[in-house]
Amino acid sequence: MRTDVLGVGFDNLTLDEAAQAGERLVEAGGFHYTVTPNPEFILATRKNPEFKQALLDADLVLPDGIGVVYSAKILGRPLKTRVPGIEFAQRLLAWMAEHEKRLFLLGAKPGVAQQAAANLKQTYPGLIVCGTHDGYFKEDAPVVEEIRSAAADVVFVCLGAPKQELWMVHNGPATGAHLMIGLGGALDVFAGVVERAPAAFQKLGLEWLHRLIKEPRRIGRMAKLPLVLWYAVGARIRGR
Ligand code: UDP
Repeated sequence: MRTDVLGVGFDNLTLDEAAQAGERLVEAGGFHYTVTPNPEFILATRKNPEFKQALLDADLVLPDGIGVVYSAKILGRPLKTRVPGIEFAQRLLAWMAEHEKRLFLLGAKPGVAQQAAANLKQTYPGLIVCGTHDGYFKEDAPVVEEIRSAAADVVFVCLGAPKQELWMVHNGPATGAHLMIGLGGALDVFAGVVERAPAAFQKLGLEWLHRLIKEPRRIGRMAKLPLVLWYAVGARIRGR
């Protein structure tokens, strides 16, 4: 049973449990995908039914961000913790390096995925990066073919939402990969193009504030966090 937060069902897992679930999906064979919704995703689903369905159909739905955790609390069905997509990815990377699983990196500006690959191979010795591709392509078919011929087990799909979720749904099965994860700006972080917030911000659940200070143009997008909390209050009052 998933925990419903304003129409999006979340898996109520710790980071450890999420990582284990991810590993099981890779081992299970067949195609699976993971999504990491934040408050912005939840609001976007209200206007985009296809995106909503993509989130509902995912094999693993992880609450990326404190806004989702607060909303769940307001709704009276608390989640154990937030599970930032990037931390989930890091856990999986360590496991992949140990188990010789093949990783493909898809997304971000040209050159970023290669730089991310180089950095990740240093951090996780033994990690097999079987291919990379930037996120600014016009046709899907050649990219699908690249992933297929690289025999990827896992693909980090970093095209921003909702593009990455729809891409996984439409193209994932044809790639032969076992697990795709929609990870937004993660390749920029792995490549060192964008820094994650300092640990103190992370601990306090204030990563959004750090990002806002670094990128003030995000103010419009971030105003969605209080809006989601407000909707949660409304839903609670209406008894949903
Ligand atoms: N991106 C991409 N192709 C596109 C649009 C975006 O590869 O057509 C990349 C962009 O370069 C960035 C990532 O998608 O690396 C997502 O960026 P953003 O920070 O908006 O995502 P968030 O993490 O906030 O969802």
